Order: sequence, then C-alpha cells, then structure tokens
Amino acid sequence: MMKDFNFYAPTRVVFGRESEKLIGNLVKEYGGHHVLVHYGGGSAERSGLLNVVRQQLKDAGLDVTELGGVVPNPLLSKVYEGIGLGRKSQIDFILAVGGGSVIDSAKAIGYGIPYDGDVWDFWDGKSKPATCLPIGVVLTIPAAGSEMSSSCVITKDEGLLKRGVNSDLCRCKFAVMNPERTYTLPAYQTAAGATDIMMHTMERYFTKYEDMSLTDAIAEALLRTVMDSAKIVMKEPQNYRHRAQIMWAGSLAHNDLTECGTEKDFATHKLEHELSALFGVTHGAGLAALWPSWARYVKAKHLSRFVQFAVNVMGVTNDFAHPEETAEQGILAIERFYREIGMPTNIRELLGREITKEEIDTLVDKCSRGGTITIGAMEVLGAKEMRDIYEMAKLGALPYSFFSVGSDRWYLTARKRIRQVTRNEDITVTSIGSCKASNPQ
Ligand SMILES: [Zn+2]
Repeated sequence: MMKDFNFYAPTRVVFGRESEKLIGNLVKEYGGHHVLVHYGGGSAERSGLLNVVRQQLKDAGLDVTELGGVVPNPLLSKVYEGIGLGRKSQIDFILAVGGGSVIDSAKAIGYGIPYDGDVWDFWDGKSKPATCLPIGVVLTIPAAGSEMSSSCVITKDEGLLKRGVNSDLCRCKFAVMNPERTYTLPAYQTAAGATDIMMHTMERYFTKYEDMSLTDAIAEALLRTVMDSAKIVMKEPQNYRHRAQIMWAGSLAHNDLTECGTEKDFATHKLEHELSALFGVTHGAGLAALWPSWARYVKAKHLSRFVQFAVNVMGVTNDFAHPEETAEQGILAIERFYREIGMPTNIRELLGREITKEEIDTLVDKCSRGGTITIGAMEVLGAKEMRDIYEMAKLGALPYSFFSVGSDRWYLTARKRIRQVTRNEDITVTSIGSCKASNPQ
C-alpha cells in the first residue's frame, strides 16, 4: 500500500558560483530589515565568506547584528544568547552562515524570540511552536539538509539532552549554495556529511510501504550519486561537479522528496543522537557506526527491501536462491564504502575504545526516555531492542578491529591503512587515534 503524502518544500534554492551576490536582495525580498547573522567557528571568517555576506547586506541597506560561536551539536545556551540579543536588537530576520548546526541554532532562536515561555518547552513536549522568525541560509557544509527540512535539533547543555522538533514554521525562506564554499571542508567532515546525506534518504527508503517505485528510484539514484561523488572529492577536493552533486543531494535527501509515499523510520538517527550527545562525536560518523548493526538486527523481517538496496544501490548480484545472503552482501558493501571514505562501522572504531556497559545503559535510558518511548517505523524498537543494537554495534560484525579517525592528518594515514586492511580482511588494526573531528562550523 502506498502511503498518502503532503509534500511541502517552500525553500527557494539559489545554487551556483554567483549565488552569494543575491544575499542582500533575498533578505529584503523576505521582509528583513535588521538581520542577525549567525555562524559557527572561525572558518566562515577565515575563508572570507563572512565579509562577502557583510558587504552584501550593507549594500542592500540592511542593519546587521552578529552572533558566532555555534558548536557542532548546537547548544541551548547559545540559543538563549541569540534570543536575548535578537530581542534587544529587534531583529526581524536570521541569516545562518554555516552548516546544519548553525541552521538549527538559527531556527531555535527564530522560535524563541516571539515565544513568551522557555524555548526548551518545544523540545520538552510542553508546548508547540506557533510562529518563527524568517530564516535564510548561506550553506557551507552539505550534510544535515536543514536548509530545506522542517527539523531542528538542539542539545540542552545540562544533562546533554539532544532532541529534535519538526515544524514547517522553521523552513528556510531561501538557501544560497555555492559548491566552491565546500572545497576546504576537511576530508573527515566531507565523509561524515556524505554519510549523513545518504542516511537521511536511507531512513526513508527502509520502509514498510513498497509501492512507490518512483520514490525508490529517486532515492536509489541519490544514494549512488553521493557514493560516487564522495569517493571522487576525497581525491579531488576542488572538483566542482562532484561537490555540487553532494551539496544538492544534501538538500534533496532531507526535504521529504524521498519520502513521498513512504514513511520516516529514523531509528538509527535517534540511536545516534544519544551517541553524539554523550561523546561529542560527529553525527555522520556516529550513523556509520550504528547503521550496519541496525540493518542486521531488522533485516530478516524486511528481506525484500534489503535485497533491493543491495542490488539497486550497492550493485550486488542478486542471488535469487539466497535472499538473506544478497541482503548481507549489501550491508557489507556499504561497510566497505564507509571504510573507503574513512568512516567507522562500529562504536569501537568511532570512539577509539570499547564502550562500557554503564555507557550503554545511559544511551538506552536516554534514547527510550527511561523506557517510556519507542523509536522507528519500519521496525518499532523499545528499550530492549535499542540495547541489542548498541551491543551489536559495540564491535560490529566484521572479523577485525579498526581505528577511528580524527583530523585530516589522521584521515590520510587512515586511508592508507584502510586500503591495506580491505585487501586482507585478516589484518587486525588497533586504534590509532581518538575521534576528535575538526569541525569548521
Ligand atoms: Zn542526520
């Protein structure tokens, strides 16, 4: 049965090398007079992008207030700061310059400024947003897809609670995307971004609803394209065509296009949110560490989907007599892809050490909110199933250990080691570094 759907993607996408020249006019077109320019660390400044933005806004005659310092897994404390600043300066438009973390922080500030209560009420389930300030984006990191999504994920500093709120109210008015701005993205971030992009579509592709072959075909093409392009930009970071394909795929993967007639699962995302909240790991890397275990845990009940994925996405030859084997080959193939681009395939590779029982207890408790909620749609998971999957992901399924990757330097070493390892699966590689990604935004 095909699921009814309501597709709404109101964000105007301005894509290409010249796109930044339109920023000032776009803000004006969507009613901005006093703009809060919101950004992350120093890279937007160092790259000269912030100066381009400032000049564009000045030329358009707009007032500007700035707030930088958004960290990956954006924090509620920064959101409060933005709400305070925004109210004081009477800002009427927020321009996020950065990736998903900056955009989500901007969305939360947009919800918070007009709201009388504590903005965390929306993530706590105590209240629902009724309005949001208009938001525009100058995208520098293709990954989260937040520039076209209704999603906003914030971490409460106290207790490291990472939660999401979905509402059409926060959908961005426009997204300016210049693929050249992603040339300097570190390899680890590029790989984690590609993984996250793919996962946004995979979380919709693995579904009970199997009658929407058009949506499947779009999803499969998107996944194959991102894999091909990711491998190329690892070697050629300034390849415009492939940077562009990844950037556009990031938006399409999460603007619900690949969900028409299907249903979000997002169990892997929920499991991962607890990992990145607890350990501060990069979201995309956390997804790569968990997905193969989730897939092996649920695949027996949904074999035809996993066979379709293996054949149409991963290029596995269909062994009609042994569908379980075909499905497993598909999971192995994506694990090989993760390793090829320097992503982990289990939690040990992600953290550079084994996760403890107490830490798994914490993850399960937070993910299930003390055993009170379930996650997933294709397969509904309670606290027991969550624990099983974290346990499986502890070491993963492959017969050798691996290492996690941190900075670009680690990454280059890692790639060399990956090539050695993938040629001979019996080699045991021990941890060579902990996972401290350099997050540019
Ligand atoms: Zn994601």
